[in-house]
Amino acid sequence: MVDCLFCKIIKKEIPAQIVYEDESVMAFLDIKPVNPGHTLLIPKEHFADMDSASGESLRNIVSVAPKIARAIMQALGYEAYIFSTNNGEAAGQEVKHLHFHIIPRAKKDGHLPFAQGTYKEGEMEEIAEKIQKQLK
Ligand code: AMP
Ligand code: ZN
Repeated sequence: MVDCLFCKIIKKEIPAQIVYEDESVMAFLDIKPVNPGHTLLIPKEHFADMDSASGESLRNIVSVAPKIARAIMQALGYEAYIFSTNNGEAAGQEVKHLHFHIIPRAKKDGHLPFAQGTYKEGEMEEIAEKIQKQLK
């Protein structure tokens, strides 16, 4: 088995502020929060990332995510949240155990959204076609 930080948290070998746990998933506070209450939601089964995860583990994650996010918002007085995963190193994934960030947000928390660009004429259609071909 890989030497995995989050597997150690699951086995309670290293401490974490666990906010939710059932037979298939665990949620605990991120030690470096974007906002207080920033939570990581992980499958208990080890998968490096979303590409290697089973459909069942992803379904388990998605089915509890809104409940946990609502609890964070209600407990701490937020109005919204981001639910995201950094999949792969180039996307900023540091821990190689699949995890989803639940980041509570308030309108005036000062965190800017991603910089968004525009497409050149025809480029959007080309890109959509390329992705559609891969999905066939
Ligand atoms: P990512 O960059 O998507 O791989 O996110 C990894 C996250 O794990 C970061 O936001 C870290 O702050 C968080 N993290 C790292 N070690 C721990 C830990 N021991 N307990 C809780 N969160 C952690
Ligand atoms: Zn792991």
